[in-house]
Amino acid sequence: MSTEPPSKNDFIRQIIQEDRRTGKRHGRVQTRFPPEPNGFLHIGHAKSINLNFGLAKDFEGRCFLRFDDTNPATEDELFIRSIQEDVRWLGFDWGVDLRFASDYFDAIYEHAEGLIKAGKAFVDDLTSDQMRELRGVPGVPGKESPHRNRSVEENLDLFRRMKAGEFPDGSRTLRAKIDMASPNFNMRDPVLYRIKRQPHPKTGTKWVIYPMYDYAHALSDAIEKTTHSICTLEFEDHRPLYDWSIDAIPGALGIDPAERPNQYEFARMEVTYLLTSKRKLKELVETKTVAGWDDPRMPTIAGMRRRGVPAAAFRDFCDRTGVAKAAQMVEIELLDHCIREELDRTAPRVMVVTKPLKVTIETIAAGETISLEAPFHPSNPDMGSRKVALSRDLVIEETDFMMDPPKKFFRLGPGREVRLRYGPIIKCERVVTDAGGNVVELVCSHDPSSMPGAGGEPRKVKGVIHWVSREHGIATEVRNYDRLFAVPNPADVEEGEDFKKNLNPNSLEVLPNALAEASLAGSKPGATFQFERLGYYVVDPDTRPDKLVMNRTVGLRDSWAKEQTKD
Ligand code: ATP
Ligand code: MG
Repeated sequence: MSTEPPSKNDFIRQIIQEDRRTGKRHGRVQTRFPPEPNGFLHIGHAKSINLNFGLAKDFEGRCFLRFDDTNPATEDELFIRSIQEDVRWLGFDWGVDLRFASDYFDAIYEHAEGLIKAGKAFVDDLTSDQMRELRGVPGVPGKESPHRNRSVEENLDLFRRMKAGEFPDGSRTLRAKIDMASPNFNMRDPVLYRIKRQPHPKTGTKWVIYPMYDYAHALSDAIEKTTHSICTLEFEDHRPLYDWSIDAIPGALGIDPAERPNQYEFARMEVTYLLTSKRKLKELVETKTVAGWDDPRMPTIAGMRRRGVPAAAFRDFCDRTGVAKAAQMVEIELLDHCIREELDRTAPRVMVVTKPLKVTIETIAAGETISLEAPFHPSNPDMGSRKVALSRDLVIEETDFMMDPPKKFFRLGPGREVRLRYGPIIKCERVVTDAGGNVVELVCSHDPSSMPGAGGEPRKVKGVIHWVSREHGIATEVRNYDRLFAVPNPADVEEGEDFKKNLNPNSLEVLPNALAEASLAGSKPGATFQFERLGYYVVDPDTRPDKLVMNRTVGLRDSWAKEQTKD
């Protein structure tokens, strides 16, 4: 894989181009993203959003956001809201094209009556267990239901009474009359409607029968005049039913055969170390293994946003990984690379000390402040600069000092020198320890002639460290997030084992006593920064007036780009 984003030319775009060349559907392109509102969106959904909305953008078409709300038992307003927020945040806009499958419940019901009248559907009284028994096994045809040959009148009457609520939940279904001998199980008289007394977020108690996903989905596409219905490979075997549903009654729902949608399948995208199973993500939330759907360690869009991942990095990642038919397992290092590349361009550089060690510069008078000029970006002068205050009383990282440093340690040690970033060279004159022998303070001197802009040839020392003036700094809590799972395939466990055994026990380190430079005052949640020498960070919504809370997005080291340049 190259480090450059590919020019988009996947098999779906090729199909669309060919359709446009031949004038199919007058060249019209209309896609949809059809989430089920039963959880938050994750990075796999971002892939589908980027594809569907991206196609609409590239081919000047439309993309509908359509909630597949055919299963009221698991759906929730919270998810409907979060999904809209996430799609918008990713940079896409459905305009006026927001729909719910439930918008079409009346039309779908009418269509189902049409199927009955055409002799293509029947009401069955079998229980789901009985149905399973008759369904057959691969290579062996199933058996027809004893109710399959009911008359149209009887079927219509029973179906209407199902709708009217005359029968208990699960006691009857409407089934398509297709072929119990089909090698494709989806075609062995699939259930189209079931009875379920469950209030629905949109339609309330109006319905006690609900259409099944495959049927409702195909009809929703047709009603909306979708052109290219793109889904993931697990629906490949459902395509004959998709086509059957749309074509069973010619001319129904005003569908022009030349305009009917076609389904195309691509491979789901999986990413190492991340889970893309809603069921498992839900389990992490419900067992309080994470703080919520938007925990910064979650592979949800909301979680990754809170982690500081820019929307542009998501889109870039989705584009670079392409659209393919073959199963796709992408290395998380590529995602991290896309994040770093975007943040490297956009994040202002600042200094934050995460594990402070007190430093006193005895050559600076108490109360004196030296104002130093520091650019926000090393190669983009348009980002401007800020003043950083240097005073007698500073903090540096604990790890930038060693009592007995090895030769290659170019930071501070007794009697050693180091440059303060944007400031002078300091020398460690004395080390103050507490009763337990722990280092609690360094007393240093500074060399005024080494001050930036002091004139003359600047004196060079090997080490440069970041620092913050104690009296000017801002109290900060730093949350260093790491991967939620310790293994590349967290879902890969033995039968009966819990995938949670693969959790990384060190996925969060909280550093409550960090100190940030003054320029971070008033930063709003979502603002991203590069903490010099440490990594990329984002302001967390938990930030309070008296405490900044910063989440680590990624560290600075890009192992992926390094791999690519190796020969
Ligand atoms: P489930 O249906 O089991 O709840 P789902 O992941 O299929 O989970 P949906 O809300 O039905 O969730 O998905 C909406 C759309 O996102 C579907 O078209 C689906 O194919 C697509 N999608 C989901 N996961 C991925 C993935 N990992 N890669 C690409 N597309 C995905
Ligand atoms: Mg699904």
